Amino acid sequence: MKSILTFSLLFVSFLLSAQQTFIYCGNLVDVEKGKVLSEKTIIVEDDLIKDIKNGFTEIPEGSELIDLRNSTVLPGLFDMHVHLESETSKDNYIKPFKLNEADVAYEAQVHAKTTLMAGFTSVRDLGGTGVNTSLRNAINKGLVVGPTVYSAGKSIATTGGHADPTNGYKATLMGSPGPSEGVINGASEAREAVRQRYKNGSDVIKITATGGVLSVAKSGSNPQFFEDEIKAIVKTANDYGMLTAAHAHGDEGMQRAIKAGIKTIEHGTLMSEETMELMKEYDTYLVPTITAGKSVAEMAKIEGYYPDLVVPKAKAIGPKLQSTFEKAYKKGVNIAFGTDAGVFKHGENAKEFGYMVEVGMPAMEAIQSATVVSAKLLGVENLYGSIEKGKKSDIIAVENNPLNEISTLENVIFVMKHGEVVKQ
Ligand SMILES: [Zn+2]
Repeated sequence: MKSILTFSLLFVSFLLSAQQTFIYCGNLVDVEKGKVLSEKTIIVEDDLIKDIKNGFTEIPEGSELIDLRNSTVLPGLFDMHVHLESETSKDNYIKPFKLNEADVAYEAQVHAKTTLMAGFTSVRDLGGTGVNTSLRNAINKGLVVGPTVYSAGKSIATTGGHADPTNGYKATLMGSPGPSEGVINGASEAREAVRQRYKNGSDVIKITATGGVLSVAKSGSNPQFFEDEIKAIVKTANDYGMLTAAHAHGDEGMQRAIKAGIKTIEHGTLMSEETMELMKEYDTYLVPTITAGKSVAEMAKIEGYYPDLVVPKAKAIGPKLQSTFEKAYKKGVNIAFGTDAGVFKHGENAKEFGYMVEVGMPAMEAIQSATVVSAKLLGVENLYGSIEKGKKSDIIAVENNPLNEISTLENVIFVMKHGEVVKQ
């Protein structure tokens, strides 16, 4: 009888400990305290961080060890601005005429995997056709490998504005897209577009408050929404608890968006000092996307890569993003990490860190903008954004200490998402 009991207890304890993974961390980046700690052990059970211990603790029999004693361990990174459905290429402008939704979906899942392998365990997808939302669902179900996605579905524009899906088409193909397709005119349609997105399962709302670089249209910076339209969007989105983001290059459109209560300004290229003050007053965040800016300026030099209308915009706007970020950061504007990946190759998201640090942001703050800060903006800081007891085990590792060598983040050697090792 006694031996059966002993055996049962052993068996039960084996079952309990069998689900635990011990991660030895040479360095561990504590993003909450802004410190790099040395020699820690993270204990992961199922998809959660069960505990963090000092030193390298003994591993109970049956538990798994992941030895990162020669590496620096960080929480999984967030990119607050990606487009998983597409990736820059010379034939991007004819793809809408050639690809079915299923084709887009197959490409998107490759981009999702690439993003996760680069250490980005959470992303905000700021605009696609709606495949991005289906992709999120497939990832959540475990059918597809990718980061946790917060999807905007199709972004919202005005007629002829950046993200009007039929810009540049011939008249018979243009049609007249409406709120459902993400094109609105007037406050009533603005509300309808947000509610439609809620119905479609979007997590966040993205608007194109000014002209943009890559749309086939003349201006890359004109304001494209009236105040009442943006207010209607923000108020409706807030009703549904959806975070709001506004693409904006021009200053006037940016100011309208900030005053209407939009939470993040994407790009912010031609931001004036007055607007920077306004962002501080309204607690608005800048998502810099410097990598995209540099990338489009480079691509624009290649003959025929972009349509003629796009080339001068890419050359004029692209190179300005880094200096705007620098000024905004130094003025004290809140920064959330975001790259606009898709405008350049997915998986190169971490280049952004280097560009941020290059113009004066301390490496720790850059890392915080891609972890705790982003998690708080998305309202998921209870489960994500740092390595703490009780949080989801989204954990990555790099070879060197990023505080000494920021480019090490471009070479992520280990990725765990929700307790599952996806790269080692
Ligand atoms: Zn974008």
